[in-house]
Amino acid sequence: MKAYKYRIYPTKEQAKAVDETMEKCRLLYNELLALKKETYKKDGVDLSRKDLYKQVKGNREIYSQASQNVADRINKAYQNFFTRIKRGEKKKGFPRFKNYETYNSITLPQITNTKNIGKKTYFPKIGWLNTKYHRQITGVAKTLTVKKTKSEKYFVTICCKKTTDKPIKTTNKEVGIDLGLNNFVATSEGEFFEHPKPMKQLTETRKKLARRFSKTKKKSNNRNKTRVKLARVDEKIANTRNDFGWKLCQTLIKKYGTIYVEDLNIKGMQKNHYLAKAIADVSLGDFLQKLSYKAESARGQVVKVNPKNTSQKCSECGRIVKKELCIRTHKCPNCSLEIDRDLNAARNILIIGRIGQELPKLKPDGDEATTVGTSQWQALSTKQEASCESWR
Ligand SMILES: [Zn+2]
Repeated sequence: MKAYKYRIYPTKEQAKAVDETMEKCRLLYNELLALKKETYKKDGVDLSRKDLYKQVKGNREIYSQASQNVADRINKAYQNFFTRIKRGEKKKGFPRFKNYETYNSITLPQITNTKNIGKKTYFPKIGWLNTKYHRQITGVAKTLTVKKTKSEKYFVTICCKKTTDKPIKTTNKEVGIDLGLNNFVATSEGEFFEHPKPMKQLTETRKKLARRFSKTKKKSNNRNKTRVKLARVDEKIANTRNDFGWKLCQTLIKKYGTIYVEDLNIKGMQKNHYLAKAIADVSLGDFLQKLSYKAESARGQVVKVNPKNTSQKCSECGRIVKKELCIRTHKCPNCSLEIDRDLNAARNILIIGRIGQELPKLKPDGDEATTVGTSQWQALSTKQEASCESWR
């Protein structure tokens, strides 16, 4: 499945119709959820998807497909909830009632007439919506979603199957990358990628707006206006970050088939206050997710490695060279290597990654999975320490 997203420009009446439909869907959602919860409590019966479909059947208020999707969403919310329990995640996320901020889209789960997509998009009972159709859809369109953002813009997303968009071709080359505050990415090949420039200005603007927002009176007009402004800045920040992230992913994946990265979870950077802020700013985790996703579609791989000592160890001789965060150059008194701190870290990540990959015996049940996940890596780490010794 591939999603295409376009900005749409509804007329005032259409916008009103979209908002109203969304509100009806939201109310229906809450109604169904309440029913599901109650039936379970009272009779111990868990309403299935089919039962929910029966409930929405005959609802004349909403276009039938859209109301079916409301039932699907409840089903999905429960499925996700159970998956999280199975995985033993801390945040279980029991399905909750939706307010107008958390319910902001309507979906048609089965669209068949793709003629209705282009410079104008057709939505039943609302009409033809002006669309900025900036790229052609390939493949078979399956679902259509209209969404309203917090900044009060409207978008349509169309999910397609069997797209003929060409995937990126990757290579057999390996690389280690270091993610950080000074350089967003430094590779073991000595390439440096800085943080997106407009970010600093945007973060400043956001700070000011947030302060102004907190001073406005509740339910005032001023507060509403500031909220929309704030949402616009947030959107801009997200867009800048996304554009930058996707482009960087593309650059890296075109060049390297295997990318070793530090496992940020193990690093537990979030506990450190100073770093936590920086992480929020640059959202490294978000970037790694994008990278894994892109790599997968190019048949490449992203491998997480234990980041222990990657910045302190000398990538030439393996000696620990202690340094504070502010010291940008790695200078080894042992082998006299003198390189950028992040480059040194990236080279270490590559070395650790390669060692991990050379220990196939340790992979459980001879599993063919080549990606070393967090848990697998933890199992590896003791053995890995040993092999680090020999490398030293
Ligand atoms: Zn050295």
